[in-house]
Amino acid sequence: MSTVNTVDAMADRAGAMGISFDLSKEKEFLRANIRTLVERECPPEYARETDEKEEFPERVWKALGEGGFLGIPIGEAYGGAGGDVLDMTIVTEELARRSGAIGLTFFMSSCFGGHLLETMGTEEQKRELLPRLARGEIKFAFSLTEPDGGTDVLGAMKTTAVEQDDHYLINGQKVWTTAAHVSDYITVVARTNQNVKKRADGISVFLLDRETPGIRLRKLEKVGIRATQSFEVFYDNVKAPKSRMLGEKDKGFYGLLAMLNNERILTAALTLGESQAAYDDAFAYAKQRRAFGKPLAQMQAVQHRLAWMYTKVELSRLITYKAAYLQSLGRDCAIEANMAKLVSANHATEVTDSGMQILGGYGYSREYDMQRYWRDCRLHRVGPVSDEMILNIIGERLGLPRCF
Ligand SMILES: Cc1cc2nc3c(=O)[nH]c(=O)nc-3n(C[C@H](O)[C@H](O)[C@H](O)COP(=O)(O)OP(=O)(O)OC[C@H]3O[C@@H](n4cnc5c(N)ncnc54)[C@H](O)[C@@H]3O)c2cc1C
Repeated sequence: MSTVNTVDAMADRAGAMGISFDLSKEKEFLRANIRTLVERECPPEYARETDEKEEFPERVWKALGEGGFLGIPIGEAYGGAGGDVLDMTIVTEELARRSGAIGLTFFMSSCFGGHLLETMGTEEQKRELLPRLARGEIKFAFSLTEPDGGTDVLGAMKTTAVEQDDHYLINGQKVWTTAAHVSDYITVVARTNQNVKKRADGISVFLLDRETPGIRLRKLEKVGIRATQSFEVFYDNVKAPKSRMLGEKDKGFYGLLAMLNNERILTAALTLGESQAAYDDAFAYAKQRRAFGKPLAQMQAVQHRLAWMYTKVELSRLITYKAAYLQSLGRDCAIEANMAKLVSANHATEVTDSGMQILGGYGYSREYDMQRYWRDCRLHRVGPVSDEMILNIIGERLGLPRCF
């Protein structure tokens, strides 16, 4: 039997069993393509340099646009590929294996630009912006979190948008708006109605041109994800034309809620990529570094550590791809999406910490990438949503009383 026939026979058998851990040929092709792009456009030295210089990797972004990757979440009618979240998971994982900053910007811009526009935008907004987003000509930053709190985001929200003639006047302050300096648009969330019974009502979403007068950025100094910067954004009497409202007035928060599963799954994919990178580097190092006359890899304590790292990477992959698979089929996966984010982000902090231990003193050197993976992945125990809030949500989904 030829190899091809053997593969087909195995796929048939997997189908008959009703479960398969294999990706389709198309999805494997997508993975091979994005891997090639990463090798060509983002060699390790470039990922390291953009982190050191806090420089956005524009050349990777351009290549992602030209290669059609930025169009994955966008429908074919608007110049995209009409892909699913499983496609996004594959691309995010592969980008994050080289740079968490690129992986994060990819999924933030795609989710909070592309997907939000696609699901909430008017036909005119979609025709104007989606093809440009797919080609990589424009980027979107997302401005939701405020200084008084990101977990209780509705309780903390003070930014207002007041209707006046043909526009809304936006006043307030956001914090941590990532990639605002290189974005053409900021998706900003503001309260348009104070007299509401439910806190999620009375919220609207706007697509602001970043150059609009009254928008001011102040850079925040952070420890990780440094190739893309984060900002406090001050909105001082910013005029948003009515045509720039995204979705229905006062109902914008519900549009954002529909994005949550994707956001959780892609955060899981991002931290999975970071874990995989840490494991790969530690494995290679342990085989070549010697102590007491033999390679580190020959020492049981090091081997056990590597075995645990590998196990954690694989467990993260299983739950992340299961959640992405369910979401792509349109099936309920709120628990799986939240579990994926929880497991993958926690495993990433453990796997990268083990990587630091295996590299010894060199782990602490900025000339090695391990410390970058370690710094980058720590964010995702807190943002875009914290471990504690994920556990609250899983608890509620299990039928326990809501505790937040
Ligand atoms: C590098 C970086 C990039 C970011 N990028 C963006 C961005 O692009 N756009 C954007 O809008 N935001 C962004 N954020 C914000 C991020 O989403 C928030 O930091 C996150 O939601 C947590 O909010 P907080 O920092 O205000 O913490 P807080 O809400 O103050 O929480 C502090 C601690 O209290 C815990 N806690 C709070 N409430 C509960 C509860 N009910 N039960 C149990 N524990 C609780 C939390 O889990 C956490 O451990 C970014 C943050 C960082 C650090």
